[in-house]
Amino acid sequence: MKVGIISVFVDYHRRGRKNRVALQPQIGPLIGALLPPDAEVDYVNEAWRDPDWTREYDLLFISSMHSDFDRARQISHYWRKRGALTAYGGSFASTYPNLCVPYFDAVIVGDPETTVPALLLDYVRGRVQPVYHGSKYDGHAVPTPRFDLIAAQSRHALCFEATRGCPFQCEFCVLTGLGTRHHTRPLEAVLRDIERGQSLLRGRVPARHLKVVGFCDNNIGGNIGYLRALCEALEPLNLQWYGAATFNVISRPALVEKLARSGCRALFVGLESFNPATIADMNKHQNAIPKMRAALENCRDHGILVVSGLMLSPLVDDLDYIASIPRYLVQSGLHMPTFICFESPIPGTPYFRRLAAARPTPFLPGALLRDFTGYTLVLEPRHATTPEFVAAYRRVTDEVYSLRNRLRKLCDDLPRFAKRGRWLPALIDAADVLAVGPGPEQSRTLLAGTDTPPPERVPFQAFDFASEAERRSILDPWPVTDDRGRVLGCWLEAGSVFARGSIARRSSVSVPADTAA
Ligand code: SF4
Repeated sequence: MKVGIISVFVDYHRRGRKNRVALQPQIGPLIGALLPPDAEVDYVNEAWRDPDWTREYDLLFISSMHSDFDRARQISHYWRKRGALTAYGGSFASTYPNLCVPYFDAVIVGDPETTVPALLLDYVRGRVQPVYHGSKYDGHAVPTPRFDLIAAQSRHALCFEATRGCPFQCEFCVLTGLGTRHHTRPLEAVLRDIERGQSLLRGRVPARHLKVVGFCDNNIGGNIGYLRALCEALEPLNLQWYGAATFNVISRPALVEKLARSGCRALFVGLESFNPATIADMNKHQNAIPKMRAALENCRDHGILVVSGLMLSPLVDDLDYIASIPRYLVQSGLHMPTFICFESPIPGTPYFRRLAAARPTPFLPGALLRDFTGYTLVLEPRHATTPEFVAAYRRVTDEVYSLRNRLRKLCDDLPRFAKRGRWLPALIDAADVLAVGPGPEQSRTLLAGTDTPPPERVPFQAFDFASEAERRSILDPWPVTDDRGRVLGCWLEAGSVFARGSIARRSSVSVPADTAA
């Protein structure tokens, strides 16, 4: 059986570039481990490489972020026309299974550990179902991912999973939209995966890669007691590691010391904003802005690099706040976030639902699903005109990502890491500072509906479409709002699949409706 697994990626900067950031989707190797051992598996992480469009698959697993669903739909159509059966999973599939059903042979809702084996069984029997619902999470049932599938493609360290979900409820977060949950895996399973991963790749990748590991968890600090125990388990292994955590982790000095002793060298932390009103509006109460500088200093002094991004809230932030961001960055010691984007109401999140119900609508007209990346404005700013807000965004990115600011950051960070003999955070810091792009191209409007289309294409042939209607259903970008900025009715169907730790089942299948709510 020839099986393809494609993690879809569309460059949100609309430059058609690949993306080599350290935290990459890990679903491919995990699905690979759930397949029969004799399956011939081709894994494509589109953030690293394009699919080989000449490949033939019997079964193709596709996953994507919400904003990349247009391309996921197109990839499915392309390989269905070439004889493959396609299955679609991930957060969008779990949020809007009914919208996805017409474009895939199967839609997977929830985790893959039970759904993928069930689908395989039905595939062999020749009776694949339109929707598969996962069972309750069981940390013991998570297999060691097929790291061999990425060994030749990845330039990064192996990434492992210790926890799944996040206990916080930031209003904009897709995880909150799916239903809040947080699970920890047995420590022995995490250590087993690290040991197996290392032995699998020994001799296949540079030896230094084996001493550095990543954790792909959304929030490795979601359970502080578990994180302490994980640190104690990792300490004897003499590894260096990186991951993502929340502010309440880095603001605890004793925990930071423990993290450093266990080999933690870099953490992504969503600081999001220096504006207290915006943090409150995001329901991100775990962030304490007054403690930010002390927390960042303490991490750096322990040899831990904190990497973070900022969001501008079109509904809360005003022009004065945006202009003051460079000053806040210096004061906090962060200097340069790895990105500055707009807070985006991604369909299905509580933020989206709140704004979809607001009157008058705060959405811009003609917003497309592909616009909900955070790098295209989909809301009408409340404290400035739209052109003023976009101009302020361009000004702040120009200033923050200036050469002078990049050098200032490195001059502040690197001596501290060097003093402690920490080469890994220094290396990640330098790579991040050099890799982060300049501000957006002048040719982009940065506005929903009129922004530059993404350049990525699927190489369809004339025979791929039986009619003009079929061609349009596959190629036309999906709208989220109408020409008056009203949210289309189909986007209000979202469900919380992990609500209260159980799997919410929805059985009806309907085609997208385009009536305004
Ligand atoms: S802390 Fe991060 S992962 Fe958790 S809900 Fe907030 S944004 Fe999502």
